[in-house]
Formats: sequence, C-alpha cells, structure tokens
Amino acid sequence: LPVVAIVGQPNVGKSTLFNRIINERLAIVEDKPGVTRDRNYAQAEWMGHKFDLIDTGGITWENSRIEDEIRAQAEIAIEEADVIVILTSVTNHLTDLDERIAQMLYQTKKPIILAVNKADNPEQRMDIYDFYSLGLGTPIPISSVHGTGIGDLLDCIVSELPKDLDQQNDDQIRFSVIGRPNVGKSSIVNKLVGEKRVIVNNEEGTTRDAVDTPFIDEEGTKFRIVDTAGIRRRGKVYEKTEKYSVMRAMSAIEHSDVVCLVLDASTGIREQDKHVAGYAHEAGCGIIIVVNKWDLPKKTSNSGKEFEQVIREEFQYLDYAPILFVSAKTGQNLDQIAKLVKLVHQNQTQRIQSSILNDLLLDASKLAPAPMIKGKRLRLYYMTQVATAPPTFVVFVNDPELMHFSYQRFLINQLRNNFNLSGTPVKIIARKRK
Ligand code: GDP
Repeated sequence: LPVVAIVGQPNVGKSTLFNRIINERLAIVEDKPGVTRDRNYAQAEWMGHKFDLIDTGGITWENSRIEDEIRAQAEIAIEEADVIVILTSVTNHLTDLDERIAQMLYQTKKPIILAVNKADNPEQRMDIYDFYSLGLGTPIPISSVHGTGIGDLLDCIVSELPKDLDQQNDDQIRFSVIGRPNVGKSSIVNKLVGEKRVIVNNEEGTTRDAVDTPFIDEEGTKFRIVDTAGIRRRGKVYEKTEKYSVMRAMSAIEHSDVVCLVLDASTGIREQDKHVAGYAHEAGCGIIIVVNKWDLPKKTSNSGKEFEQVIREEFQYLDYAPILFVSAKTGQNLDQIAKLVKLVHQNQTQRIQSSILNDLLLDASKLAPAPMIKGKRLRLYYMTQVATAPPTFVVFVNDPELMHFSYQRFLINQLRNNFNLSGTPVKIIARKRK
C-alpha cells in the first residue's frame, strides 16, 4: 500500500489528526491486532483508496533535541512516504521550525501537502495565508478536533497517491526479512540478492516498488523481497529506536505473504524478538524462523536441537513455523531460505476439498468426541475451506458456543497432521448450522 506520512513540529496536533483520519467514518481502520495497537501506524481508507498512515511525531526518542526530532521525522517521511503531509498550526502562526521542516522537505520530489490545523472558526481560517510563504502550495485549513476540512485534506491526499502496483505483481511471492537490529537481516538480503540474478532494481513507480527487490530462482519462481531498502540502509539515528524498528517490521509484515523472522544465534532470544514475532503471528502471514550467525556458537552435535527447544518454549504460538539455521557469513543454508519460502507459500495458498475435510472431521470426532459443556455436547456437521493465506475453515455445528478453545486446537492439529500446513497459521471458525 502507498504510505502517507504526517510531519510537523510538536503540539501542532499530529496525533489528533492521525486518529481523526483513521477513525473517520468513511476511513476503515484495519481491524488486525498488532496493526492498530501501535498508534503511530495504521491502515486507512478514503473513497475506496487504501493507504498506510504514519504519524512520524509519535515515534519518540528520549532525550533528543527538537531539531533532531524534526530532522528524523523529515528523514522518515522522505524515505518512506509516497505522500507527505506537513502539519502546522494557525494558533502558532508560521514558526522557524515550520520553515526548517519545509526546507528539509524541499529536497524530495514527493508530493507534499500543507495542512494548517486548529483553524476552528472562520476568522482562523482567514489566518492561514501566512503559510503560503512556505512555498508548498495552497494551505488547507483543518480542525482535527472538530473534524472540519479533513475530507478536503483526504481528497487531496488521495489524488496524490501513486497507483497500487501490488495487484500487478500477483504472480510473485512477496517475503520480507524481519528482526531486531544487528541480527544480520541486511547481510542475509545482500547474499540472497547477490547470488540470484537481480532482474530489476529500483523500478520507477512507487516508493514501495523502489524498495523491493525482485528475483527469480532456478525454477523460474518469482520472488519479491519486500522493503529491502529499509533494511539495507544504514546508520540513521532513528533506526536505533525500538519503536521505529517495530513499525518497520509491521509495515513489511503487512506487505508480505511470508516473513523470515531472523534471530541471532550468538545473543539468543531477546524481548524485542518476541514483539516482532507476535506481530507476524497475529497478522496471519506465513512464518519461517531463521537462526543466523550459526557459525559463531561453539557447537556439539546437540546444539541445533537445544536451540530449537528454546525457540519452541519462547515462541509457543509459532509452533507451526519451520526453523532454519544459517550463516550469512559462511553462506551455510542460505539457499534453503527461498526454497522454504516457496514451500510455505504453497502451504498457505492450498485449497482442500470439502469432501476430504469431512472425512477428516468424521475421523477426528471418532478419535476425540467433543467434551460436554454445561450438559450439552458439540456436534460437528460439516467443514469447508473459506479462505487461503491463512487457510481458514468454517465448521458448521449445533452451537458455536460449545466450540471450546482446546477442541479447536485439536481440530487444527488434525489438519496439520493430514495436510502440509507447515509455516502457515490455520484458522477455524465455528458457525451455527441453519
Ligand atoms: P541487521 O541490522 O539485522 O541488518 O544486521 P547486519 O546485517 O547489519 O549485521 C549486523 C552485524 O552482524 C554485522 O557486523 C555483520 O557483519 C554481522 N553478521 C551478520 N550475519 C552474520 C553471520 O552469519 N555470522 C557472523 N559471524 N556475523 C554476522
């Protein structure tokens, strides 16, 4: 999806505007857990156009000066966004900081929209003419608190959005390499891309395009590594903040069919690994756990098993994700990554016939009859697959309330035992038979 970033000095109302846009009655907020939880980043929709919205001001870094903060905001917007909204406030009048932000933004060719907030009444709306001097075109007066002018602003944003190219690339498997800083993401991507023939780089078009790297494997399967610029770019101040790297990971996750969660064998599992993993799991995409720097630890014949056990304990909800031990340094197992991505993609997009599912349902209910709940027993009538990526099954029952979590888990395990579902989450929804 195209990305829209809001930048502006502190207290002009960036987060109020952000919330206003994502809560706008016609703007549908993606209801995925993990995506809406972080309030700096959300999916929004206006008149049928979807985009990702970033509040760059919400990415806080402790103890930094205002100048550093706005510089970082502007850098993020310039690098990430397809459309930049610079927010000012009519009650502040035009400030030095507004001018400095505008100056930083002049270097980008991306469309910039100037919005003047806190224009709550007609007199204030007359006061916006100062802002013409920023040289960023016609200022749009808005009131984030009252909601006036927001529709005009959204119309303007939407008119500047690039065409979404995701649909044109439907035959590609989109995957991303995610993880906390220094686990070796960029080393892995560089090796992967270096070894394969890179067919196109920096295609013209959207930003998202320019930061993705397509390649083809020996069998002619097309891949697209999402967001490679983001992980290959080095040394920006803002990259060190956890919030930023989590936001980055969420954006990559959202645009991927499969994600490779990279862990560092030399440091073990950290809290931040779990945050990133949690988002990937909740988003429903395919997941591969890649343990990098496998050249570093002193190993016995059991080391792989032991590390695997730790991973299984720490990431219990990812029990379906295959684990791969690699070294970006020596190249060990790197050729397995694309193969596994392909396999997981096959698994997540397969369709299972209803007749086969119903045989399985019958066997399952013989193997373990549903327990009684409040004197009533769950009856399973019929199961059918309603979606792929992740594979989603509806099971028709006498009373959905009787579908206990543990029985649902049992059914998912039966599916996993009988079909190739490695690397993909599986969902079961109970519906009342009509
Ligand atoms: P990123 O922040 O996740 O993109 O991590 P980088 O790719 O920049 O790697 C961080 C550091 O780890 C660099 O100094 C790399 O040279 C080093 N590194 C990456 N992969 C390996 C590996 O497999 N083995 C060893 N020994 N070092 C690695």
